[in-house]
Amino acid sequence: MSGGDSEGEKAERMAFILALRQHGIRDVAVLRAMELVPRPLFVDPQLRAFAYDDVSLPIPCGQTMSQPSLVAAMTEALGVVAEHAVLEVGTGSGYQAAVLSHLAARVVTVDRYRTLVSEALARYEVLGLRNLTAYVGDGMLGMPSRAPFDRIMVTAAAREIPPALLDQLKLGGVLLIPIGKGDEVQVLVRVVKEQSGNQVRELMPVRFLPLIPGVAATL
Ligand code: SAH
Repeated sequence: MSGGDSEGEKAERMAFILALRQHGIRDVAVLRAMELVPRPLFVDPQLRAFAYDDVSLPIPCGQTMSQPSLVAAMTEALGVVAEHAVLEVGTGSGYQAAVLSHLAARVVTVDRYRTLVSEALARYEVLGLRNLTAYVGDGMLGMPSRAPFDRIMVTAAAREIPPALLDQLKLGGVLLIPIGKGDEVQVLVRVVKEQSGNQVRELMPVRFLPLIPGVAATL
């Protein structure tokens, strides 16, 4: 990325954080994490002019990255602290996981597309993010080799909560997942895993592409 630290870029980034505050994001650590990750690096070069706008943008493999206000709201709702091990399902551009990496001890993200994972890894290399890894895999199965997790965030819509994700969540842990059909408005659900059963709360309407079982055959 060129001109990443130019005066213009700095001003844009400040306006970006202000807009997030106006959207109701209050958690200072979340705002700081959003400030630390240069969204232009995660955006198609032809769309860089929109990188700091509050819009979702197309990424390779027919996928999209969420608008920043939703990334921030979901990050805030996940309630990450510095000791946490976090799993994200749906790497996409890698942006959401990069934001989480500034809040958690370590972050693992998984996507079914090889292309997306290798591009995300290249971005993490550029940014020097060492507590963050991306894998190719079926995120509906979680990441058993790296489990258990304190927090799990799914950034694709599921028809129901994949049991493997609950299995890989620690007691007291939080899972955030959009539930509904991929072509409709879904509801973002927050699950707290408790010994006596799971506490489930509906947070807000969201729109994500569907979670699709299995690893992509191409790309
Ligand atoms: N969080 C991303 C955007 C996610 S878009 C970002 O910050 O840019 C949704 C992603 O979920 C897509 O990349 C899609 O390939 C992925 N996905 C869908 N089904 C999946 C599955 N079963 N396992 C892993 N990833 C999946």
